[in-house]
Amino acid sequence: MRFRRKLLLVFALTVFVCVAAVAWITSALARRAFEKADEQRTAALVAQFRREFDRRGEDVGRRVEAVAQGEAATRMALSLSHGPPDYAAYLDAAKILAESQQLDFLEFVEGDGTILSSAQWPARFGYKESFPVTTAPGVSFLHQEPLPDSTALSLIAVRRVAAGDSPLYVMGGRKLDKDFFASLEPPAGMKALFYQNLGPSFTPQFLITPTGAAQHWELLAPIVQQVQQRGNETTSLIHWSSSAADDEVIDAIPLAGADRQVLGILLVANSRRAYVELEQQIRSAAIASAAAGVVLAILLSGWIASRVTRPVEQLAHAAREIAAGHWNSKVNITSTDELGDLARSFDGMTRELLEQRERLVQTERVAAWRELARRLAHELKNPLFPLQLTVENLVRARQGSPQQFDEIFREGSSTLLAEIANLKAIVSRFSEFSKMPQPRFQPVQLNELVQDSVRLFQSQLSAPGRPPIACRLEVDRGLQPIAVDPELLHRALSNLILNAIEAMPKGGTLTLRTRHEGDRVVLEVSDTGSGLKPEERERLFSPYFTTKQHGTGLGLAIVQSVVSDHGGRITVRSNAGEGTTFAIELPRNGDQLQRAEAAQTTSGS
Ligand code: ADP
Ligand code: MG
Repeated sequence: MRFRRKLLLVFALTVFVCVAAVAWITSALARRAFEKADEQRTAALVAQFRREFDRRGEDVGRRVEAVAQGEAATRMALSLSHGPPDYAAYLDAAKILAESQQLDFLEFVEGDGTILSSAQWPARFGYKESFPVTTAPGVSFLHQEPLPDSTALSLIAVRRVAAGDSPLYVMGGRKLDKDFFASLEPPAGMKALFYQNLGPSFTPQFLITPTGAAQHWELLAPIVQQVQQRGNETTSLIHWSSSAADDEVIDAIPLAGADRQVLGILLVANSRRAYVELEQQIRSAAIASAAAGVVLAILLSGWIASRVTRPVEQLAHAAREIAAGHWNSKVNITSTDELGDLARSFDGMTRELLEQRERLVQTERVAAWRELARRLAHELKNPLFPLQLTVENLVRARQGSPQQFDEIFREGSSTLLAEIANLKAIVSRFSEFSKMPQPRFQPVQLNELVQDSVRLFQSQLSAPGRPPIACRLEVDRGLQPIAVDPELLHRALSNLILNAIEAMPKGGTLTLRTRHEGDRVVLEVSDTGSGLKPEERERLFSPYFTTKQHGTGLGLAIVQSVVSDHGGRITVRSNAGEGTTFAIELPRNGDQLQRAEAAQTTSGS
């Protein structure tokens, strides 16, 4: 992956993670805050409900108390203590008193529960009913009141009539209806509902709802049933529609009667609209800032990447240039940061290397000249000495008799000619080395070239009067033709074979190997001769380096020059006393091969 992509990925990921974390934390905090606020509001509404309940309870209690202390009640109680009651006399009594006290329900009940007179169900006199005998002043409670055609939930109070000996109770109350809940004033986003628990299964008709939008009240069934079964407070989330903003958290609070039976359920609904809207806003803000962050990351990573990669690419380019031999290439980075330092060090390094190389070349050149002068002086001194002697002899003989002079002149001139030929040979050897021709490439089967060269040395390997040298060929049969100059390569190979033979004066084995390594071909010449000392190995390829009495020291220099002209390289492995191996590695030179093959076919046709 490119640096720029990596940087972009890191930046974008960082932005994304940060924004996601902030959004998540914010919405979690918001949710907690909303939940807390909801709880508080619910508690406040429940408290308001209880206050209202108590207030109405007190009101009912006062009215029932007024009835109990009234003249009609006293009369009824007194008549009871004088024998069985005359129900017909009291048929309308309860109804009239209820109306005067604005009570929805009013009944006079004897101590054993027999109804004396009933406002809400006049025909029910003489019936026995069980009623909660809680007559304490100020106490009122929920009660299920049977009516001729239904049952109604009411808030009732019971009082005992003080007159007479037989107990008489006044039980009066008011319906818990819409009016009651209309007096509750829930804050915005909240509403209170009341479910009258009059039957075992959920019935929407028993629900007292705030006026307004009709809802799918049946959705409340599970929560109502849960409270009916367990009898304790329950909270649940209701989805009124597909929009989350319409969701409401419903708190269901059971309301028990005097006998602890759940008679009603107060449902406090808290709208989640504000929270859902805030969450949507947080989400939109997060998406917008993430998008802005990613755009910023793209720009920033592009800018940083170009700042970092451009100099790096410049450095890489300069390094490649220098590797290709263009020693004068420079990295033009002017920045003052670490990359600038790197570029300056790089330029400094190339400058230093260049100077060192120039110094080295100069030293080598001087050394080569010295060596050449030394060799030339040495080689030329040998033939010059006999030349001088002969000429001096001739000058001296000129003073003697003509016969003597003739004889000395004949001898002298043949010596002079021989030495001059010697001088010529020396000169031509030097000039031959100086005039190494450029290779003329043509397709060559290396194995054949090796075999031909060995054949030429066959007589030397088994010369009579010297220890024999065995010759082994280990050639790679699958070798493809390569493009080389056969004459030059033959010359190089001959030098290596000759050196090997000269290194084995006591006999041994000469081995020639060929093999291919990928696109390259390797040719090895091994001997079991004297081997090389470390100091010899260092100077081996320098021109004029020789350890032989009549050596020229040019053989390996020629080999190296041929190999390098072919784009190959030569290496040597050797241990003193254990023989030496020279390995020539040559490229197949595919381009040259194609060109040479094309030239051959055109000349052939
Ligand atoms: P020359 O053969 O004229 O001495 P070369 O350049 O061919 O010059 O060899 C230089 C020197 O390298 C030799 O004098 C010899 O010391 C050493 N040399 C070359 N080939 C071998 C070899 N196969 N085994 C040991 N020494 C070698
Ligand atoms: Mg040699």
